[in-house]
Amino acid sequence: MNHFQRKRGQLYCEDVPLAELAEEVGTPAYVYSQATLLRHARVFKSALRGLDFLACFAVKSAPNLALLRLLVAEGYGFDIVSGGELFRATEAGGDARRIVFSGVGKRADEMAAALDAGILQFNCESEEELEQLSRVAVRKKTTAPVALRVNPEVDARTHPYIATALASSKFGVPAARVRKAYRLAASLPGLRVEGVACHIGSQIANTKPFVEAAGKMRELLLILRADGHEILRLDMGGGLGVPYGDGPAPASPKQYGEALVRALEGLPVKILLEPGRLLVANAGVLLSRVLLTKEGHRGRKFVVIDAAMNDLLRPALYEAFHEIEPVGRPRRGAERVDVVGPVCESADVLAKRRRLPPLSSGDLVILRTAGAYGMAMASQYNARPRPAEVLVEGRSWRIIRARETYRDLIRGETT
Ligand SMILES: *Cc1c(COP(=O)(O)O)cnc(C)c1O
Repeated sequence: MNHFQRKRGQLYCEDVPLAELAEEVGTPAYVYSQATLLRHARVFKSALRGLDFLACFAVKSAPNLALLRLLVAEGYGFDIVSGGELFRATEAGGDARRIVFSGVGKRADEMAAALDAGILQFNCESEEELEQLSRVAVRKKTTAPVALRVNPEVDARTHPYIATALASSKFGVPAARVRKAYRLAASLPGLRVEGVACHIGSQIANTKPFVEAAGKMRELLLILRADGHEILRLDMGGGLGVPYGDGPAPASPKQYGEALVRALEGLPVKILLEPGRLLVANAGVLLSRVLLTKEGHRGRKFVVIDAAMNDLLRPALYEAFHEIEPVGRPRRGAERVDVVGPVCESADVLAKRRRLPPLSSGDLVILRTAGAYGMAMASQYNARPRPAEVLVEGRSWRIIRARETYRDLIRGETT
């Protein structure tokens, strides 16, 4: 359920016509629906009733301060993967005691900043990282709360670029070495072992890989406790998928919640979850204008829009599907077109061989389900200023990130 719906032929975000927003803020622009985000945030939490849990939003999926602040107000903590995300989470009013620091490599200064902030937990991914973190903590005459991210070696059945728990993955400590790694962690003077973690991938369609991972983590937790480690928290990561409109809908948050509750209830630990995409993907669209249409070889039709792979990387990076719709009343008929951006790369295709109503220069379109890993991955490639971000609430809206200017493009450069 989302609040980007048609009224009298025109697409709206909540009660604001998208055509009006395009006039006011220009294109391309990311537009978010506050009602949709809040709804998802609440549905996710209520799906997990029955567990003692803390939901830590994965900042990397949608790092805008205004969005983070809404989630703080909903009681969310944050999953961060860099010092920059720690800064964002803190600026948004996030409580350090609800922040988990993930990632396969952390710099000493990032570790130090997170220790100073007093975060809940470092999710470490290797023996060497444990030693590095211990050194940083000892230098600061403190101890760092750690969990080891374990690779539970389950196949999440998702795109290879977003599967993270295959045996060949760079992520996590291989299951076979986990007990030894915990012995090391327990022996290091700067660490206190407090948790165990996993994250098996992203855009996962059904509950089976989660149930499988939960079963393995449950077993491991009991082994680690028997080994004498006082494990207080089990972090199950994020990863539940959302419908992009190109296949069967993934499991619902309710089904996911029920499966996790069944697999984990009764464990004497707090459960951490790190949803990202699930909360924000459908709460945002990318609003863009058609620049022109052109005909290629053998009648192939291209619709060139003013958004490109620098604004929305997912189609180029993962061959991801985003539904495209005209903002105005769709014209009669349909044709098969490639929707492309102006960037000088053959990969700059936002939709390939897509059946769409006829489009022409000046028409507005949206790319749906762009709220997660959309603006987050935007770049200035081809010296294209990054888009504005707009947050809609009912009849009102506000700019939550100004469109970049040409000045922004050269900020910090010297000749
Ligand atoms: C990316 C990431 C997440 C969020 O994944 P989603 O698929 O967006 O839910 C959670 N935890 C970690 C460690 C991640 O790297």
